Amino acid sequence: TPQTENKEKIVPILSHALNSLLEEAATKSITVMEVCGTHTVAIFRHGLKALLPKSFKLVSGPGCPVCVTDQSEIDAAISIAEREDSIVATYGDMLRVPGSWTSLQECRARGRSVKVVTSVTQALDLAEENPDKNVVFLGVGFETTAPATALALIEAKKRKLDNFLVLCMHKTVPLALEALANSEELSLDGFLLPGHVSVIIGLNPYRFIPEKYGKACAIAGFEPFEIMAGLLEIARQVIKGEPTIKSMYPRAVRPEGNKTAQELLDKVFEPCNAYWRGLGEIPLSGYKIRPEFEIHDASLRLNIEKKPSPLPTGCRCGDVLKGLISPIECPLFGRACTPMKPVGPCMVSSEGSCAAQYKYDRKG
Ligand code: SF4
Repeated sequence: TPQTENKEKIVPILSHALNSLLEEAATKSITVMEVCGTHTVAIFRHGLKALLPKSFKLVSGPGCPVCVTDQSEIDAAISIAEREDSIVATYGDMLRVPGSWTSLQECRARGRSVKVVTSVTQALDLAEENPDKNVVFLGVGFETTAPATALALIEAKKRKLDNFLVLCMHKTVPLALEALANSEELSLDGFLLPGHVSVIIGLNPYRFIPEKYGKACAIAGFEPFEIMAGLLEIARQVIKGEPTIKSMYPRAVRPEGNKTAQELLDKVFEPCNAYWRGLGEIPLSGYKIRPEFEIHDASLRLNIEKKPSPLPTGCRCGDVLKGLISPIECPLFGRACTPMKPVGPCMVSSEGSCAAQYKYDRKG
């Protein structure tokens, strides 16, 4: 890791190396997907696309947890908020995501009980303070946020907080990448893998990507020089024809990941099929609460059905999340859809591609 004062100087050096590498190899084109929403935002914020060779295409993927939450799941959360007997506890990003008929924010404006929490622990406290209500925490996110939900479920069981429920919408990243690696719609050469998720799961769950699909992979941190180093590594693998997986974030990611967090996840959750916005149903790519903790499972306790729901008219979030189009190619971008009046979740979430493009590079 370079010293702080050298970090900024390294980015142009890495960019130059990437340009030279592609020039020397006379490579026609390389297409890489950055999988993580935090990477997407950092790439826009630091203008990194402008430093890439023309033949190096970087597309965004399904790494924003709010964005990939299926419309049916948003509608399920809203149906809970409509109930008199329940309080919905959610991270702020979920509030403004439009459901099929309303949003959690509109429910709250109509006097429904929707509370914004900054941690699942706050939701546990709400359950303790409101014993006559179900407090339903909206469990969204990947392997990064799921351990905190798992810990809260263990704690709720210990404290006998039977009114603490979780609507479990957590998803796991590797199988979504398999769907993308296998896609006939988009031909990818490699993946810039997410740093935070990899801290938890390590390298092994991704090994099938180079081995089975021949795609280059690098895990990167979130500093501009780390992202650029990750892209350079992917280009090197593609040009050499030696796809593998390399961690460019060794200070945080161990090959075996975080065993304690993995054990916690195994204890509380089991794999289940999950619906992803844009990607559809992906077998075993979600977490379901195990029977030992089912007293806290909102789907069972409140008999919640997740019914297939149409996407908002004209919204191309599904295509954005699959890397098929960039946000500015959506006809609604910046017109009918803005951060003040979002049509889809990719414009709502702080990690959404559309919101990042609107904030940092509106004209593309
Ligand atoms: Fe959906 Fe708006 Fe993004 Fe278009 S610009 S894909 S409508 S969120």
